[in-house]
Amino acid sequence: MTQFITIAVDGPAASGKGTLARRLAEQFHLFYLDSGAVYRAVAKRILDLEKNPDNPEDALSAALYVRDHLTSEMIADPAIRSDSVADATSRSSRFPAVREIITGILQFYTNHPPVNQHHKPFQGSILDGRDIGTVVCPNANVKLFITASPQIRAERRFKELSARGIVTTYETVLQDMLDRDARDNGREVSPSKPAPDAVHFDTSHMDSDHVFEKAVELIRQKLS
Ligand code: C5P
Repeated sequence: MTQFITIAVDGPAASGKGTLARRLAEQFHLFYLDSGAVYRAVAKRILDLEKNPDNPEDALSAALYVRDHLTSEMIADPAIRSDSVADATSRSSRFPAVREIITGILQFYTNHPPVNQHHKPFQGSILDGRDIGTVVCPNANVKLFITASPQIRAERRFKELSARGIVTTYETVLQDMLDRDARDNGREVSPSKPAPDAVHFDTSHMDSDHVFEKAVELIRQKLS
């Protein structure tokens, strides 16, 4: 494989898109970019300053801050993974000005990935999110859309939170997920939706190894 390739992996929360994208990044020597983490960093900044994620001006100033101070630590910060940050993210990410700034950052890193830990260039980039195949990388070589039923996704998320010692109920997790889906799917700008040329994987009854094998096969076919 000599061409620089781009892969878009979209889908809702807890669909398995992040795990899949990470594994594909390793398999194909690609730079992995978690676009949700960048949107989460914006929301965390808003909450840290005790501002309002539903206020477009607060959201815009946090997006500008993230654009100008983005570090890999910010994206790896475990604090951005909390449910309160997730909820705030689906609010602040609906503003067009925020999306324009974050889309610019994502497109820059897609096309100019850093060198990898062996100081070798990556062979391409893989991004996961909600609008990668439709807006951020409309010309991606391969587009995947990963889904699973809300009940299965809530079960996965509930198990993950319980394993981290976070006390909650399955019903709360399911309701939060449905609310977040509704905001992500219903917003006017860049709603979460599959690109017309995306290949769909329903992971409700597939384990992560099976999803990975199917995706590798598909990518090899598309690139050959
Ligand atoms: O993927 P993750 O669940 O971490 O995304 C968190 C939130 O960030 C989503 O619920 C969505 O509101 C926002 N997001 C977005 N566009 C993306 C990625 C994430 O609006 N490309």
